[in-house]
Amino acid sequence: MKAWIDGQFVPQDEAKVPILSHSFSRGSAIFEVMEVVVDKGEAPDTGGSGTGSRRALFRLDAHVERFFRSAALLHMPLPLGKGELVKAVKETVRENAAAAGGVKFYGYYAAPDLGLIPQEPCAHVAVFCFDLSEALGGSGPPTPGAPGQAGGQPGRPATAGISTVRKLSPEAAAIQAKAAGYYVNAFLARREAVEKGYDDAIMIDRTGHVAEGPLSNVFFVSDGTLKTPRLRNALAGITRDSVIEVVRGMGLALEEADITPEQAISAEEAFYTGTIIRVKPIRSIEGKSLGASCPGPITRKVQAAVDAAHEGRDPRYRHWLTHVA
Ligand code: PMP
Repeated sequence: MKAWIDGQFVPQDEAKVPILSHSFSRGSAIFEVMEVVVDKGEAPDTGGSGTGSRRALFRLDAHVERFFRSAALLHMPLPLGKGELVKAVKETVRENAAAAGGVKFYGYYAAPDLGLIPQEPCAHVAVFCFDLSEALGGSGPPTPGAPGQAGGQPGRPATAGISTVRKLSPEAAAIQAKAAGYYVNAFLARREAVEKGYDDAIMIDRTGHVAEGPLSNVFFVSDGTLKTPRLRNALAGITRDSVIEVVRGMGLALEEADITPEQAISAEEAFYTGTIIRVKPIRSIEGKSLGASCPGPITRKVQAAVDAAHEGRDPRYRHWLTHVA
């Protein structure tokens, strides 16, 4: 695999930063992870039926927007514009055509720097591809940069525990930025959950309400209605946004609400959402099984509709796919 760094391709294992760099030592790197999907919808008029020409980036523009928002929140000057980043991401996927299932890109300060405020006048940008099976917890060695989006095996419903590690609050950090340093908070929550025998965590905010998972947003079904925490203390997930739009398109009721841990545990169904995992059913919370079967009927429907949107099979959402070739 090759990584794109400031306009040049280098072998991925040569893409390094010094330990004394601000982004390594202070956690100031920002990043995005996105999925490379195979478009299974209607073939374009121009032909091209091979998967090479049918590969697409899912919600590329939304990821690029969020990346620039992260940079603004961290006062990080980027060396390129949105259009140039879009071009770089597409080029990197083409360069790594055989193995790219996902893309992770970073903004970071690379120069050795002992100060607290970074001295470099402009950040660097790097774009990596990774193999999807490895990102989802495959058996091989991890690809550098692969995201490891949710605990548990791919496709298998997760067990969840309510975390004692509180989500970083908006008063403590600019939580709508995807900044590397914040993920110590996520890692501590996931680790606690795994040590207790669960696949993943549900994190609580400072008001005692459900915020999100360590690396995902979370939805519940209670009294037949879909509910998800408000964005006050959760990342504005792009999959969350896709799910909300798809669910509304299905004519199902959905509320953004304050959800207590007790309401979460007594939900009929629940699922995590995130890039790569898309919709991941939650089988139990704190050892209590949710509903009679998992995935429950609403989760199953949402999963099918969200997969159709990712794969270009629903004409209403084809604009979410940006073809690579
Ligand atoms: N919350 C957090 C804290 C995350 O890191 C992620 C992964 N980006 C999500 C939610 C889900 O966001 P998305 O659907 O954009 O992957």
